Amino acid sequence: MKLLKEKIEKEGQVLSDTVLKVDSFLNHQIDPLLMKEIGDEFAKRYSDQIITKVLTIESSGIAPSTFLGLTLGAPVVFARKRKSLTLTDNLYTSKVHSFTKNETNEISVSNKFITADDNVVIIDDFLANGEALKGLIDIANQAGATIVGAGIVIEKGFQEGGKILREQGLRIESLANIKSLANGKVEFYD
Ligand code: 5GP
Repeated sequence: MKLLKEKIEKEGQVLSDTVLKVDSFLNHQIDPLLMKEIGDEFAKRYSDQIITKVLTIESSGIAPSTFLGLTLGAPVVFARKRKSLTLTDNLYTSKVHSFTKNETNEISVSNKFITADDNVVIIDDFLANGEALKGLIDIANQAGATIVGAGIVIEKGFQEGGKILREQGLRIESLANIKSLANGKVEFYD
């Protein structure tokens, strides 16, 4: 996606050979016009499928997911990383190791919001080693939902997650795929 790549080139900060900071439009401040285009692009790519629910993880998956949900007319469910006082039972849970924070969180979704009748698309901001996606897939599977595929705003193709999950048969649509962050420079595939 051209606009997204331009935004990454202009505003992304390469923090190391493996970490990209994009907090001016995705991870802290949000660019709503870009998010709208991202939502529309995911909807276009999955226009061959019937989607009843968008599943993501807090917090940075919520903005792109909401715009996709708006375009599709489908609700958006986000997995929570912390136990909430009002979210106590009837939960699907999974463990997710965070690439950027180097800690493991238990993520949870109420069984009210994902069911065996759902056709789910899973959205996240980044794909690195695939841990977040695996956790969300686990939750969708516990609910008996059908997983239509995943949508990723920024895939880091030099890390293993995308390769492993595609080999397992998951359809992954990523809007920007980074080949390298070496020498402080962002290099894309294609
Ligand atoms: P994975 O679970 O695929 O290893 O990593 C994806 C998750 O880690 C995403 O939910 C995202 O929040 C975070 N993440 C991974 N790599 C990066 C990165 O380079 N920059 C930022 N900002 N977040 C990342």
